[in-house]
Amino acid sequence: MMGPTIGLLGGGQLGQMLILAGLPLGLRFVVWDPDPGSPAGRLSTRHFCKPYDSKETLEEFARNSDLVTYEFENIPYPLVAELEQKVSLPQGSSLLSICQHRIREKQTLQKLSIATAPFQSVASAGALEECLQQWQTPVLLKTCMGGYDGKGQRKVDKVADAEAAFQDLQGDQRELIAEGWLPFEREISVLVARSTTGEIHCFPVVENVHEAGILASSLVPARISADLNRKALNIATQIAQGLQLHGMLAIEMFVMPDGQLLVNELAPRPHNSGHYTQDGTNVCQFEQHLRAICGWPLREPKLHSPTVMLNLLGEHIPALQAWHAGLPAEAHLHWYGKAEARPGRKMAHLNLCAASLDEALEELEKWKLRSPPKGIYT
Ligand code: AMP
Repeated sequence: MMGPTIGLLGGGQLGQMLILAGLPLGLRFVVWDPDPGSPAGRLSTRHFCKPYDSKETLEEFARNSDLVTYEFENIPYPLVAELEQKVSLPQGSSLLSICQHRIREKQTLQKLSIATAPFQSVASAGALEECLQQWQTPVLLKTCMGGYDGKGQRKVDKVADAEAAFQDLQGDQRELIAEGWLPFEREISVLVARSTTGEIHCFPVVENVHEAGILASSLVPARISADLNRKALNIATQIAQGLQLHGMLAIEMFVMPDGQLLVNELAPRPHNSGHYTQDGTNVCQFEQHLRAICGWPLREPKLHSPTVMLNLLGEHIPALQAWHAGLPAEAHLHWYGKAEARPGRKMAHLNLCAASLDEALEELEKWKLRSPPKGIYT
């Protein structure tokens, strides 16, 4: 006897970890991902290795799934909207559409009275110049859709650079957003789950350190005041309620020098900054997501020890040559099984739980897997 079959759209590492969390719960998984080397595909009952626009696969995938979920935002919206008509898809297509587009995302946050960076849609270099003049700060120019891990972004410091940045991001062919540059103190995120029954729980607040736009490391508990911690959890709960969320949502926020919290991005799924929950809390984000979309009772997350999560990218893999033999037993390695280790590609992460964050950071530094991400000791 087995529980429902989950149809998983996208078969990357998040999909792999969803399957690893879901199998012991009695769930089965079919995966749709055009990549034959998909990490989740190899663990699934069936891998639909077809392009996302295949109508035939859509029918078959829907027939083979009791419930569908997505593990990344760049799944084509029309596919998700069509699947929603055929099979239960608790996360829904509308939240996906909001999170796929930076302007829609920020407008949605505004409607919920959540503060963000100043932003403006820019359809010409002139419009970008106006933003620079009006805000009197540098501007971060981003593509509205399709960007991830810092891709599709340019910092523009002065009016003279506006034209080149606009052309560089092909602003005449795609929508761009200008955001005021924020001199934030820290980046944090909150992972919140809301079940189809309305039950809500947040995971402990995470502090994130990025390098070149890619998450390098997450530290939990975040080194922020109790007051800010409360504020961050309140914002997350407000967003989850406001969106009538079903499933996990990651909310990235900037901590400003005056203590204000500004929301940067939403990801309607488990998230890289929640990987610490695999070893640091009593329930991991992947299990919680499955519980939430299946309408099962959620677990109240509790941190059992301070935890540091370190991302290992393609360029860090040579340092791991001895594999587990070269790593202390305390390191929880999570390997994604990708065939090729390209620079900047997320290959694995590891979690280290310790008596304190300082202890975990000191220990990690000894292992020399990657130099401590900049800003980690500040
Ligand atoms: P994003 O793709 O929006 O998550 O941006 C990637 C990274 O760029 C963030 O994690 C921040 O480190 C940085 N960033 C994004 N937006 C801003 C902003 N408005 N001001 C300053 N830094 C930013």
